[in-house]
Amino acid sequence: MAKELYDLGEMPPLGEIPEKMHAWLIRAERFGKPTEAFQQEVVNVPPIADDEVLVYVMAAGINYNNVWAGLGIPVNVIGARNKAGEPEDFHIGGSDASGIVYKVGKDVTNVQVGDEVVMHCGQYSRDCAWVKSGGDPMYSPTFRIWGYETNWGSFAQFTKVQAQQCMPKPKHMNWEEAASYTLVAATAWRMLHGWGANAIKKGDVALIWGGAGGLGSMAIQIVKAAGATSVAMVSGEDKFDYCMKLGAKGCINRNEFDHWGMLPHWKDNAGYAKWMKGVRAFGAKIWEVLGEKRAPNLVFEHPGETTIPTSIFVCETGGMVVVCAGTTGYNATVDLRYLWMRQKRLQGSHFANTEQSNQMNELALRGLLDPCLSRAFTYEEIPVAHQLMYENKHPHGNMAVLVGATEFGQGASGQPPVAIVHPTLPKGDIHTTPHPYPMSEPLPGIAEAEAITIADDGTKVKDLMHRGIIACAPDDTVAQVAKLMIDKEIHAVVVMDGGKATGVVSQTDLVLARQGRSPEEARALLAGAIMTPGCATCDADMLLSEAVSLMTGRRMHRLVVTENDQPTGVISMTDVVRKLIGA
Ligand code: NAP
Repeated sequence: MAKELYDLGEMPPLGEIPEKMHAWLIRAERFGKPTEAFQQEVVNVPPIADDEVLVYVMAAGINYNNVWAGLGIPVNVIGARNKAGEPEDFHIGGSDASGIVYKVGKDVTNVQVGDEVVMHCGQYSRDCAWVKSGGDPMYSPTFRIWGYETNWGSFAQFTKVQAQQCMPKPKHMNWEEAASYTLVAATAWRMLHGWGANAIKKGDVALIWGGAGGLGSMAIQIVKAAGATSVAMVSGEDKFDYCMKLGAKGCINRNEFDHWGMLPHWKDNAGYAKWMKGVRAFGAKIWEVLGEKRAPNLVFEHPGETTIPTSIFVCETGGMVVVCAGTTGYNATVDLRYLWMRQKRLQGSHFANTEQSNQMNELALRGLLDPCLSRAFTYEEIPVAHQLMYENKHPHGNMAVLVGATEFGQGASGQPPVAIVHPTLPKGDIHTTPHPYPMSEPLPGIAEAEAITIADDGTKVKDLMHRGIIACAPDDTVAQVAKLMIDKEIHAVVVMDGGKATGVVSQTDLVLARQGRSPEEARALLAGAIMTPGCATCDADMLLSEAVSLMTGRRMHRLVVTENDQPTGVISMTDVVRKLIGA
């Protein structure tokens, strides 16, 4: 007679499924920091469907996803599932694992009870019409990240997965090593191998951002296995040795450069020239590391906003910048001239499909992929491991926790097919990456977008605007316009032509017009020649919050206010700030 519940580490006889299991649960009423959100409970072992598998978890991988799940932001994953018809009022997280197959559904053919497996985290419905027609499951509307978007992840004695998620466990790895690499390595595999003509190939050069990080450390090894060369980006020379032992030809310390961030305005010749100097020096550094004047055929991107302009610039003509995250921000800027004239590709990529995950795992099975496990924890420490991540105090590399395994280092049953280096990062290595967003954040779609409600006190533009338009004519000189601004203590002048507002001359326009000219030449220019054409307007009856969005969206500080389609005044960010401080 099967026991109803086994203690942790007390392995049930193979194939015997107890009624209940130990698990770490997140519940909506304790959403918050990991040490509060995660609690140990005993729950029923879930039933499985015909294409599913029940795996006895030996170890589980830690990812940032479940910090977000515990916080309940930006998505309440429990509420979202309840809305979709799933009854459980809790979340069992965990999107990486190693374990032993204990039960298979009747349609399962790729694994059997007793198999030692690792699991990738991509789930989708096999009944999806797109998938049935041979489409990439990554594009299926049913695609979900197991253990984040789905329940029954790996922070429990048993996990419920689809059979297609199961892949053979590398025999030379212990349980915690095997549990740690799949999510990041499969993501890196798709980025590098998933994009047709731009996939990495022998002889190519790849630039890898965050070479010592979770994705980057996998990318360096995948590039090496493809017979290509990688240059790793890091934030300190203490990480050079680590990346080079993993297979990078050389490394660059990003802190030696300071041209990061959004591009300067394209009209800003001085700013652009400075940026160009920075990015060229960076390109020259790549040549120096490579020992030849070659541009990267592929740039492996995830920092996003601060690095995309550089990535696009240094990428080889016809090459690809492939991006799976925007850790430093999502509003990346691109100089489109380099994209179209040099026919480069900016490609988004997200996790990996079953085939790609297995191709990646083949590398691991052949001993060509070090899991880069930086720290392993006990089962009791699951909240602590997440708390370290939450506080950004965790080490670089991949982390795992024991679940069924009773000691660290158990589970290896064979020698690695080739000698593995196992590089380690310096002890003092500090993790300074900004908190990444959940790997799979539901984005508002066209059909199902819900209105975002914001608190608004109802203030309208007309409550704060300055009445009266200070204008100039298109053939007024810059000298006249500048004097007008100084005399009236304003930052912009509307250009009126035949009773119509045709543009705006701002102080920025004046300053940019001065670039490359003598003061006399600049003063003689005409307002119509240097103005920013068109006039960003808002109606006096518009809500102030909407006017603010208009300004931030267009990165400007003021709008011309219209009433009955006639310009009658101006509203500026300064007015909004005055209201903020009650002045
Ligand atoms: P990680 O281990 O924290 O590594 C990120 C690396 O980025 C760090 O090693 C850091 O290295 C580097 N970095 C930090 N700030 C930077 C900056 N301002 N400029 C350039 N580099 C910077 O994280 P990860 O596991 O590699 O994941 C990276 C991102 O990908 C995260 O946002 C994660 O959520 C996302 N992700 C997405 C998917 C997907 O399927 N879409 C899958 C996995 C991960 P240095 O300080 O040494 O430069």
